[in-house]
Amino acid sequence: MRLRHLICCAIVLPPLLLLVLAGTNPSDSSSITPINWDLYHPSDDLMEQIHSLVHRHPDKLSIEMIKSGNKGYNAAVNVVTYCRGGSESDDRSNFRILLTFGQHGRELITSELAFRILSILSEEQFLPMKNGATLNSTLDKLVIKLVPIENSNGRKRVEAGDLCERRNGRGVDLNRNWGVDWGKKEKDYDPSEENPGTTPFSEPETQIMRKLAISFDPHIWINVHSGMEALFMPYDHKNITPEGLPTQKMRTLLEQVNKVHCQNRCMIGSGGGSVGYLAHGTATDYIYDVVRTPMAFTFEIFGDNQTSSRDCFKMFNPVDLPSFKRVLNDWSAAFFTIFKLGPLYLDENSTNAADKWVSIDEYLDGYLVERKNRYGKNMEVIDVGMQEIKTYFRLFLLSSVLLMFMFCSRIAKSKYSRNSTPIMP
Ligand SMILES: [Zn+2]
Repeated sequence: MRLRHLICCAIVLPPLLLLVLAGTNPSDSSSITPINWDLYHPSDDLMEQIHSLVHRHPDKLSIEMIKSGNKGYNAAVNVVTYCRGGSESDDRSNFRILLTFGQHGRELITSELAFRILSILSEEQFLPMKNGATLNSTLDKLVIKLVPIENSNGRKRVEAGDLCERRNGRGVDLNRNWGVDWGKKEKDYDPSEENPGTTPFSEPETQIMRKLAISFDPHIWINVHSGMEALFMPYDHKNITPEGLPTQKMRTLLEQVNKVHCQNRCMIGSGGGSVGYLAHGTATDYIYDVVRTPMAFTFEIFGDNQTSSRDCFKMFNPVDLPSFKRVLNDWSAAFFTIFKLGPLYLDENSTNAADKWVSIDEYLDGYLVERKNRYGKNMEVIDVGMQEIKTYFRLFLLSSVLLMFMFCSRIAKSKYSRNSTPIMP
């Protein structure tokens, strides 16, 4: 199945062959796109830029480095905290959002997006068409913790020429090293892609992220990847989504983002169900099931599925300026929509907040999108079916109104005639 070979992201595992260092085989290297350093920052440079940004905005931003290591392997994760409006970042009444980027080494674009979001939060860059006043009132109530490069050791290997590497500095996939359903292997398991490590949380990077998630206890978690365009919710290790109102809120929020920022191109649903392959030991499943974060997502922000699966830089990252700009513009706007809508959707005083944003048509459209992707070829049948349901629904509403009108006018008539009859003593 072609999709399987092309998509290489947080959830799905394509059996990619690891690329031999560029240049070792001249016949192969001719078709391999090198990293475009005119567009992308080397990771050291990116972190330097982020440090400078933080230092220019001490009223809004702060940064800390968390280190961990075992068996001679060390990792460090930088965490940027955004908090404004005079509130303390550890004030538990704030709405808390935790975002992580660059969990897989080869997905460079995700860390560029992290930098863009921070630049907008610090008001050095701006969203097009955004009302500043609304944005300010939204951001006053938030604390955002953002990890720009979760897997910096793996990223270094990519920068050194190992363009298809997604794992950490000692070959473990950080999105298979978490404690929910850890270590289960599918038939096509490929250790060069999804080696889960020796035990759950064997990796320093995963230990750091778990500690951060538990201590911060976010309302929203988003793990940002590339390889396709998708907005995933739990679960990755089974092909269903959790049940109940919270799930409905997650889905409604994703449908809103898909419509406004992804032109309904993005796949929506459970990671495991949407693409037909299960992933075990993922971060999002743990954050949802164990940390109990009410909204836990995995976003896939870009994928070139026309390119060879060996041409990893091109497959996972936009390679030209217009598409690079488009991805950063579209997705930074998507995140600010989430910053705005997320707290509304989770506000317990307005449990119907989600409904305010969704008409019956939008709801049905969203339903269609999901089914379209989960069941592939059934889409046309369901599509036609849902269009008919919508038409019948409108006819039903219209006929109900007419019936009510007739009923009321009848009552009025009989009332009138009764009044004209002399009242019997
Ligand atoms: Zn990924």
